[in-house]
Amino acid sequence: MAAGPRETAHSGIREVVNVAITMPEAIRLEVGQPDFDTPEHITEATVRAVRDGMTKYTETAGLKSLRELLVQKLASVNQIAADPSQINVTVGGVGGLAAAFLALLEPGDEVLVPDPAWPNYRLELSYSPAAMVNYPLRAERDFVPDVEELRNRITPQTKVLLINSPCNPTGAVFPRSAVEEIVALCQEHDLYLISDECYDEIVFEGEHVSPASLWRDGHVISVFTFSKTYAMTGYRVGYVVTNHELADVINKILEANMSCATSFAQKGAEAALQGPREPVLKMLAAYRRRRDVVDELLREYDMWTSTPRGAFYAMADVSGSGMDSRTFAFQLLDEKGVAVAPGTAFGTAAWDLVRISLASSEEDLREGIRRMKSFIGERSA
Ligand code: PLP
Repeated sequence: MAAGPRETAHSGIREVVNVAITMPEAIRLEVGQPDFDTPEHITEATVRAVRDGMTKYTETAGLKSLRELLVQKLASVNQIAADPSQINVTVGGVGGLAAAFLALLEPGDEVLVPDPAWPNYRLELSYSPAAMVNYPLRAERDFVPDVEELRNRITPQTKVLLINSPCNPTGAVFPRSAVEEIVALCQEHDLYLISDECYDEIVFEGEHVSPASLWRDGHVISVFTFSKTYAMTGYRVGYVVTNHELADVINKILEANMSCATSFAQKGAEAALQGPREPVLKMLAAYRRRRDVVDELLREYDMWTSTPRGAFYAMADVSGSGMDSRTFAFQLLDEKGVAVAPGTAFGTAAWDLVRISLASSEEDLREGIRRMKSFIGERSA
């Protein structure tokens, strides 16, 4: 049984954000959202939708026209075959994940969650009847799960395995062979697989493999969002795709919890899918350029852990400071005016690592990492 929301701490990233926003001069490398404006054609379509009176409830599952476009996107980008009734549009990816947990988890169940991981999994599970069991992601494996370590954590109570690739906070993109092994493990042990694919289109090299493309009509719930690919975090539009039976259960949960995602934001999402790709490709190219800069600097300054292959984050090793990452983050902010997300916010495994967001300007990344290096140098001198 989870601790419950009363006992559960807020995200450790928020803690840093709350201090950093009071420091106008601070270099902000802790934030996990695109630093780009939403592409113009999406804004235009959304405003037009409001003016045209698209301000009423939609179907709980989301506009049929949006789900039909998503059928095409899932087929072409993710190789997932689905019909519109298998898709539920949600309030961000976070809404899809919450509904997936609620649909599956019962008292006594265990859910396998990565460590380090996005803190919201822990928060969402704090009000579920299930227990969270962590499995480690290690820098020496490029933060790709070790299937044997996963297997060792499976008990008769294990019902769900959660994976996140491309990954926040590590930037890992799981290779096809790892996804195949994970799917086989779930099949062997009759587990449900919740696959958080909120960064599916932010990949720098290699490919993103959706588990649902390998296990058709299987026990996979795939969660996606418009937030990251299209810089639409405030729109709060995500979607979740799964088999017909689970899609219906999720639909009932959404009916109870949100009625529907915001109607005009769904029209913006349609424009995102139908509009030009250039803005998305431009953002991707910028993240890739920044990734290259950060990767080189971290190597040069002895803070490198693994090269990010997707999402927009890099993990830096700050063990040279002799501090845990939370203490490091607060002192760094206080003394050098640089905000980073401490590894402690993501679990226990990354206690001496910090997350750097590539959704920051190249200039800020260069200066922020330089100051991190000098801060560590002063500690180890
Ligand atoms: N999953 C991961 C790993 C994330 O990092 C985020 C957002 O930061 C989400 C899901 C949810 O995104 P949203 O609710 O904005 O769509």
